[in-house]
Amino acid sequence: MLAPRGAPVQRQDAVQRATVTKQNKDGPYQWTSSYDVDFDDKALQCNITVKVKLTPADSTVTEDDQKKIKGLAQAQFQKYWDNKFTITDNATKTKYKLRLSLAFVDTGEHVAVTLHPGEGRDNRRNWYVKQVDNITLAHELGHQLGLKDEYVDSAVPDRADASKPGAHKDNSIMGDYYAEGEGKAEAKQRHGDTIAGDIAGATGRSLGASK
Ligand SMILES: [Zn+2]
Repeated sequence: MLAPRGAPVQRQDAVQRATVTKQNKDGPYQWTSSYDVDFDDKALQCNITVKVKLTPADSTVTEDDQKKIKGLAQAQFQKYWDNKFTITDNATKTKYKLRLSLAFVDTGEHVAVTLHPGEGRDNRRNWYVKQVDNITLAHELGHQLGLKDEYVDSAVPDRADASKPGAHKDNSIMGDYYAEGEGKAEAKQRHGDTIAGDIAGATGRSLGASK
């Protein structure tokens, strides 16, 4: 069948969807990142979905708390990551907008998160009902996308001091946004490069990212 005029050229063998899974190691820290990816040749979108299973730590965490945090996490995730990059398939030159969203699920999750009462320090797998800023959930979900911290940490050789290649002070969402200014934090080109590389690895496609 001939493609309609103006439709993007599709490679018959191109993998359209995959689960991207990566083992991450950053000095003493290790974690597995994963998400689903789906190329939509009609909408020209490359859709990333992170499936999150959110479980209350105890009975003091209410339905309303869970609902509120799900809304906040989705909003923060999309504010910092959704629609920031264009993914180009180098074989067909097709350009896809990189779209991201969370899906809250009961089974089949990419990440299981415990929701704790009160205030505390969020990490990738533990969130708190009382959020003290509007950015940290987006940062933690960045780890779920296979991205590393970028602030100075003496425990990690690659970013043991500011001169090391893994340390960045350029208003990165993965950096020290408390010191640099929360309002200035953003996704960086190198994050798009990592995500495009991981999707390429999972799909066998040759991909690049641009802002
Ligand atoms: Zn972090």
